[in-house]
Order: sequence, then C-alpha cells, then structure tokens
Amino acid sequence: MKSIVTVLVCVALAACDIAGSSKQAEPVDDRRLSQAQAEPANWMTHGGTYREQRYNQLDLINTESVENLGLKWFYQFEDRRGLEATPLVIDGVIYTTSAWSRVHAFDATTGEPLWHYDPEIAGEVAFKACCDVVNRGPAFYQGKVYVGALDGRLIAVDAKTGKEVWSTVTVDQAKSYTITGAPRVIKGKVLIGNSGGEYGVRGYVSAYDAETGDLVWRFYTVPPIHGAEPDGAASDSMIAAAQATWAGDWSELGGGGTVWDAIVYDEDFDQVLVGVGNGSPWPRSLRSEGQGDNLFISSVLALDPDTGKYKWHYQGTPGEEWDFTQTQPIILATLEIDKQPRKVMMQAPKNGFFYVIDRSNGKLISAENYVPQNWTTGIDLETGRPKMAPDARYSGDELFVALPSGHGGHNWQPMAYHPDTGLVYIPAQEIALAYQLNQPFEVRVGGWNLGVDLAVNEIPDDQEQIDAIRSQLKGFLIAWDPIKQKEAWRVDHLGPWNGGVLATAGGLVFQGNASGYLQAFDASTGRKVWSFDTKVGIIAPPITYAVDGVQYIALMAGYGGGYGLAAPFTENAGFRPNGRLMVFALNEELDYDVVKPELAPAVVVNKVWEKAGRDNGAQIYETTCGLCHGATARSSGIVPDLRRSPILASAEAWQAVVHDGVLKDRGMIGFSAYLSPEDIEDVRGYVAERALQLHKHGN
Ligand code: CA
Repeated sequence: MKSIVTVLVCVALAACDIAGSSKQAEPVDDRRLSQAQAEPANWMTHGGTYREQRYNQLDLINTESVENLGLKWFYQFEDRRGLEATPLVIDGVIYTTSAWSRVHAFDATTGEPLWHYDPEIAGEVAFKACCDVVNRGPAFYQGKVYVGALDGRLIAVDAKTGKEVWSTVTVDQAKSYTITGAPRVIKGKVLIGNSGGEYGVRGYVSAYDAETGDLVWRFYTVPPIHGAEPDGAASDSMIAAAQATWAGDWSELGGGGTVWDAIVYDEDFDQVLVGVGNGSPWPRSLRSEGQGDNLFISSVLALDPDTGKYKWHYQGTPGEEWDFTQTQPIILATLEIDKQPRKVMMQAPKNGFFYVIDRSNGKLISAENYVPQNWTTGIDLETGRPKMAPDARYSGDELFVALPSGHGGHNWQPMAYHPDTGLVYIPAQEIALAYQLNQPFEVRVGGWNLGVDLAVNEIPDDQEQIDAIRSQLKGFLIAWDPIKQKEAWRVDHLGPWNGGVLATAGGLVFQGNASGYLQAFDASTGRKVWSFDTKVGIIAPPITYAVDGVQYIALMAGYGGGYGLAAPFTENAGFRPNGRLMVFALNEELDYDVVKPELAPAVVVNKVWEKAGRDNGAQIYETTCGLCHGATARSSGIVPDLRRSPILASAEAWQAVVHDGVLKDRGMIGFSAYLSPEDIEDVRGYVAERALQLHKHGN
C-alpha cells in the first residue's frame, strides 16, 4: 500500500523522483511517456516530453548555483563529423547517437560505456547526404532504442545489450534517400521520415510497429502525377486535393517534401504534427511549370497517429522555391491569447516567420518575422498566406538575393519554451543567398539537383571583401514572446550555425555556440551567467537529467551539419577535433584541454591550366564538391581541405580518388558516373589555383 502512495505522490510532485531509485524502474510505456513531465530526472523523448518544449523542472542548477557548474566526464567519439543528437536519459543510463548513425549507452553518472551499436553504414552513402552524416538522436520504448540509420533503415536495438532486435528498410535504397532525424514513438508505433530534397526524392512519413518493425501506415507528402495509380497509402484520400496544386510531370525529381525533422505527438487532439521539407528541384518553374502551391511541401501536416489519415495542414510557403523547409522543430503549448486559453503549436521555420497555429484546426493565429526577411511584405492573417514580394520568384536570368535563405532564419537546432517567462528561445541566424535558375538544367540521376546555380554566390579572394561578407553572416539567441510576437532580448554570437537550446526551472537557458562555448543565460534577461569552452564547435542542444539527487547537463559537442560543412568562414575553420559527449555537474572541475595540431601547408602544383579548364573546374567544384569540401575550396575543417591535400599534387592520385572512388569507404565516392576524367582534371586545376592563393596570401 505504501508503495502505491509513493508512486501517486511522485506523479503529483514533479521533483520527488530526483532522488528516487533508478534500479526498479518500470518499462518506458505509453503512460510513462505521456507523463514525462512528472519525471524531470529523465529525458525520455526527443523534445523532453511529447510537447517538445525542451523545458525541464530540475532547479538544483539555477541562476545562483550555476557558477559552480563544471565538467564531470566526457567521452570522445571516433571521428570529427557533426554531432546533432539530443541524448535520452532513462533511469540512470544515457543513450545517444553519433555520426554514421552509431548508437551508444553510458552510465549517466560515471560515463562508463555500457555498449555501442554500429549499423555499419557504407561510406559511399555519405554522397546521398546533403548535410553531413549526422543523426539527431534515438527514441526509447519498452526496452528498445530506435535509430533512423543514414542508409534508410529503421533499427531497434535492445536497450540492455546493444544487440539489434529488428531492422527495416524504410526507403528505396536505389534512390538518394537518407535518414538523419530522430524517430518518435507514438502509441506503440515508431514514426520516421527521411531526407533527400536536394537529390530528387519524393517525401513521406511512415509508422512502424515498435515490436516487430512492420509498416503500419505511410503518408506521401507529394501526390503521384496526374493519371498515375494511387499509392495504396494513407495519403490516397488527399491525392486529388494535392494534385490540384501541381502542374506538369514532377515524377523524375520526386517533388521533394521530405519529413526530416519535426514529428510531434499532440495528445490533446490525438494527432501527430509533421513538418514537411522544401520542393525538389528548388525552382517551381522546373518542378511544377511555375504554378500552384504544391501541397504538401513546406507545410505542417496533422495526421491521425493510428492510421496516418489527414486531419489538417498549414502551408507556410506556398509554391516554395528557396529551400524554405517547414520541418523545423515544433513546440506545443497552451497560450492565453485575447484572454482565451488556446492550444497552439509554435514553429520558427526557415522562412523567417514565427507561427502560432491553433492545433484544433490548423488555422493561423499570428505570424511575425523573427529575423529580417525580404521574400514577403507580410502574412495575411485572414488567409494565412504570405504576401509575396514582387521579385522573390526568380525566373529567366533574374537573380534574387533572399534573406533568410535555405540555411534558414532558424534551422533544425531545437528551440525551447519556458512556461514561467513565457518566452521561446530561438537559435536564429542571418545568412543571405543568391538564387538564379540553372540553365540549361540537366538532371543528374541520384545526384545533387537543385536547379539553382549556387556558383553565383561568389566568394572573393580579397581579404577585405571576405571580411565584409563575413560580417553579414550573423547568429543570435533570440528570446521571443509568442503572444506579443516580438523579441524580448537577444544574445549576439560571432556568426551563424550555433547550438540548440535547453530551458530549465532554474531560471536558465543553455545554448552552445559555433565557437565551442556552452553558455547559460538568465531566462528572463539574457544575462550570461556561465560559460565553458569545450574547444569544439557546438550545434546540438543540451539536455538535463538527475541521478541520485544530482542534476547534470549533457551535450553532444561536434561541429558540422549542412552549413557547418559547406561554409568556409566559421570559427576554428581548418581544425576540428573529434566530437564528444560532455556531462556537467555542480562542484565538478575535470581537467580539460584540446590541443590544436598544425595545419598542413598549401600544396603548390607544378602545372599551368588553361583559363577555360579552370573555369570549368570552378563551375563543377562549386556545384558538386563545395557542399562538403567548402565553398571556394576553403574547407570548414570537417572533411579534408583539398588545398592542403597531398593528393592534389598528383594527377593520377586525384583521378584514383575522384574518378575511381578508392576512398569510397570513407565517404568519398567515385564520380565516374557524373564527371569525365577531363572534368576531374579541370577541378584539380581550380583547386590548385585556390591552393596557390592560400600559399601566396594565406586565405
Ligand atoms: Ca532542403
């Protein structure tokens, strides 16, 4: 009898299980997931609870005590690719994922590794990944850990042993689908989407039986083309409505609409809210004859979690053509608006607007831009539609410099909501990008197919001009009042692409930045109250948990991801240490340092290329190579800087790698299907020119 009373009290009093025993814990089932907010010692789902507020009620670490926060333990992973995962903590064990979809379990107190699971992703799959070989974290349910693997498998692993229980291929692996997102477990089903919007795929979200891995339902975000057979999927009932917003034949490049991040269970209305990605290819003129809203790209979809049946949608960017995904994290809350409690979802997608949407029907309540934007003249609150700026839709030879751009005013880095301050904390940024049609547009099957010529975004050699561009790249932590739709305060970072956010009842907001500092701010004022130099660029969000009465902060530190790979002007460019899981507690002070090695010198090549060859090489490099190796051959340091690579010195070695693919196991495929040996030698000419620039001028 006494134990029942204890359990009931624990559910009622959120804090009492902080000191509770973790040893006789019950299975993580629907009831426990539903009441996750009553267990602040654990972090059981991707966003902390089903509402994904990333707010935790632990308050031992607070605005007063945080000055005594220090490193307790860390674990260094095997490579330096990006780390984006939100770890989970269940009853004293921390589960997380690293690059290449690897899963790890540690004792959450000591850091002792309990097991590692490696899905052994083939290195060449990296070619299909737009934005690094990252993974945003696992899901946990009934003794199993679930991971969406980069090659499209959904895998269940035994939480005690790390042994594979089942594995299901969720995509056509002949196509350029990948998975980087965290699965979510909802009512006994594991929900997962995929990525590939830049590679010509058709997006969908699927639900699998958590016990067996069998497919339960699938919803395609893009309809089959006019006249085609239905899919036999949950989305069939919406085919006619969706097709009415498309024109022409979008089957070759799939249409896009990948579900690569937000999948949120809304218990209030028993629905799952799914964020949908951009169109493929990017320009609407190449995708849909320049017409139509193209449902359901760049939308939020509400689906029935049992059947996948459509309930409602809200499309933030109709007829999207700037890589404005609406996959960004979704937070559920009840806000008092005009003296009425409203059950809302909040989202700050790439297009720069902060949306507050009524979850009962998908109707827009309010929207204001949280960063400067130039693609609209505002949002019509009657229709919920953007009022398009006249020049935003680029066509013909016209060029449109968009702010925000496909990098997003806010990207996947999770934001947090603090119910006491009523503020949403957004990892926001300003990165402009010029858009111009790629003409003539030739589809590269399975390859990078934007339909946009990114080479127009030229980066100069002159250091003053470089500095001028760099000064335009901005990153912030913005505290946003979702009711007033205005900023309360902001913190300036040195540049964009910083970490996700955690809010706590200790009156704190935690965020890491690209420069490697994990920082804590007063949630009310933005005053910085704590900082730790991890010496590793941070993009992932911190979490908090407790074991035996001690509160911890945990963080995956490791720079990378889409912007992190491609952008040359980042802090610590050139040097990236291996990623690591770092855990902090009060009154701890583990010795910590990261030694920077010397960078290899620029390789000077003894050959002169014709200008036409170098120009051809530049065009190929900037559309094929630069996404990973860095724009203008300036690597951000995660994959090799080709200007410093000994392979550059030898035409034969260069062909062996770039044409024949001798390094494919490390993620560098051979490009013989896409490029001729002459093209590949031209690329060497361009990189050699960049290396000479580095040798002579140091940039
Ligand atoms: Ca995209």
